[in-house]
Amino acid sequence: MRLILLGPPGAGKGTQAKILVDAYGIPQLSTGDILRSAIAAKTPLGIEAKAIVDRGDLVSDAIVNGIVSERLDADDCKPGFILDGFPRTIAQAEALDRMLLDKGAKLDAVIEIKADADELVRRVIQRAKESGGARTDDNEDVLRKRLGVYQDQTAPLVAYYSDKGLIRTVDGMAPVDEVTAAIKASIDH
Ligand code: AMP
Repeated sequence: MRLILLGPPGAGKGTQAKILVDAYGIPQLSTGDILRSAIAAKTPLGIEAKAIVDRGDLVSDAIVNGIVSERLDADDCKPGFILDGFPRTIAQAEALDRMLLDKGAKLDAVIEIKADADELVRRVIQRAKESGGARTDDNEDVLRKRLGVYQDQTAPLVAYYSDKGLIRTVDGMAPVDEVTAAIKASIDH
């Protein structure tokens, strides 16, 4: 099973990805998590990415495409994967198409998780409180920036994948278990 979770910050991509990992026995591949680990470890990638992530901009396509390409080569991705936070631009989606073509692999579905902006702000502020400041980009100003970046650069992916017949839209405002059920139903149908 090869899935993409698409949605604005706070929509519940990470929460749902972790549940789907257990349900389908395939790994979660979060470019945000990989970048945060690199930042924490102060690797050359992390040092380059830190200021960009902190201000809510997108890291370059070349960097994230490289991260994903390397990660998809690992053995645990052979049975499938759940992409969380990638692709975020049309150029990334096209790069992913090429990576999968090279492997003779196909996407099964792109799950769009929808939620309204006020709820996203509320959730991300809550996440910031609960994480004790672990995410330097979870504050209201940077969040509004990330929502704008999502609208401009990532939302066009809905049409991109819709044209390929891959989009399944679920209501991210519903309780977590209902969102999971809707995702599973949309995959299995
Ligand atoms: P996330 O945890 O998915 O919300 O990502 C946190 C931050 O990491 C984003 O605001 C970007 O700065 C960076 N990032 C994560 N994934 C990508 C991506 N696919 N392309 C560019 N930047 C990304």
